Amino acid sequence: MRTRLTAPVVLPCDPSCSVLRDGVVDVDDEGRVAFVGSRGSAPASDAPVRALPGVLLPGLVNTHAHTPMLAMRGAGGDLPLLRWLHEVMWPMEARLTGDDVRAAMTAGGVELLRAGATTSVEMYFHTAAVLDAVRAVGSRVVLTPGVIAAPGWDRLGTWEQMRDDVSARIDAHGLVDGRVELGYGPHSAYTLPPEALASIGEHAQARGALLHIHVAEAAEEDAAQRASHGSVPALLDALGVLDGRVLAAHAVQLSDDDVALLAARDVAVAHCPGSNAKLAAGVARVTALRRAGVRVGLGTDGPASGDDLDVWAQARLAGLLARVSSGDAAALTASELLLMATRDGAAAIGRHDLGAVEVGRWADLVHVDLDDPVFTDPADDAQLLSNLVWAGGSGLVRDVWVEGEQVVADCEPTRVVRGETTTAIRAAAARLRP
Ligand SMILES: [Zn+2]
Repeated sequence: MRTRLTAPVVLPCDPSCSVLRDGVVDVDDEGRVAFVGSRGSAPASDAPVRALPGVLLPGLVNTHAHTPMLAMRGAGGDLPLLRWLHEVMWPMEARLTGDDVRAAMTAGGVELLRAGATTSVEMYFHTAAVLDAVRAVGSRVVLTPGVIAAPGWDRLGTWEQMRDDVSARIDAHGLVDGRVELGYGPHSAYTLPPEALASIGEHAQARGALLHIHVAEAAEEDAAQRASHGSVPALLDALGVLDGRVLAAHAVQLSDDDVALLAARDVAVAHCPGSNAKLAAGVARVTALRRAGVRVGLGTDGPASGDDLDVWAQARLAGLLARVSSGDAAALTASELLLMATRDGAAAIGRHDLGAVEVGRWADLVHVDLDDPVFTDPADDAQLLSNLVWAGGSGLVRDVWVEGEQVVADCEPTRVVRGETTTAIRAAAARLRP
């Protein structure tokens, strides 16, 4: 065994969101959890002990991000989706190089880890640069390289070439290679022809890969698809895309039939309440989706529209918006929100080896400060969970581990120098500015 971590509180994020007092977490040589339980029930061990003073919980899962857009953070911040894409984002992205993407993913990887997210599902381009950055900071990623056929994007190749690049990478290195899982990121039904969506779906299903796609985000984006097929989910289903592992980002504009279809096809949803609110796309029907049995995780979206990479903030916003839209003050409790940010997010991407402190899962862990005034009665389980989710969050994160390796120590990344990553991203941002 490599190490034993102890903490006054461990939140394993099991289905009942239990609160474990005087907890012990053993991490084995591979970086997986070998034991989790109370000190009294822990097996004898001669592994080095690290006594942590706070709360130990699983790393958060960000189920929808475009972290390499960090250099464009907040650009065009007052435009609706389609004008924002066509007038601001795509022209800036046309100037983006692999070096910019490497700098952005490095700084963004550090930002994600420091906010307690150990895994992010990324849809972006310049795959090699993204992978370089992820390996440099030590985070975990499900990378679904973007496939798009929209004005200007042909500079990166045709959709067939983008699809084949992913397939070749998976065929050469497997679906999961260390901390990296590869999947397919067809951008959306409004930026790809139907034959492309069907073909990418076939490539993904042949390899058991995750297909990660924007679905029914803003009302105006998919008018043509709705006119021809009724809805984007119906279109994707007719093309066979929903037969595989599918993660639908946003899924805001859904009818009752769409909700039932996503449930029937076991399509997961990456709920991005902050981005949806900022672009005025609407509020996704999270309560209805969960009630129908749809797996729902939380996503920040890219920092160009979501602005930060803080999954805790998304959890809080998801809870607030669910309550406002349902009129139910118990819609999404603190426990449910914490599980959405961890266990449910991992389930949404089909990764049952992540998202919980459980024997056999990877020791992707977060240590948050307990010595903080947000905790008014840390001895009370319900109060502790409530304070953590509604008042605490990313600002409390002190230490982070991925596969048992400490990648953030006392708020600072261990593998890279944070100041250098900030300098690099500012240089990229200055060059991209119109
Ligand atoms: Zn997105």
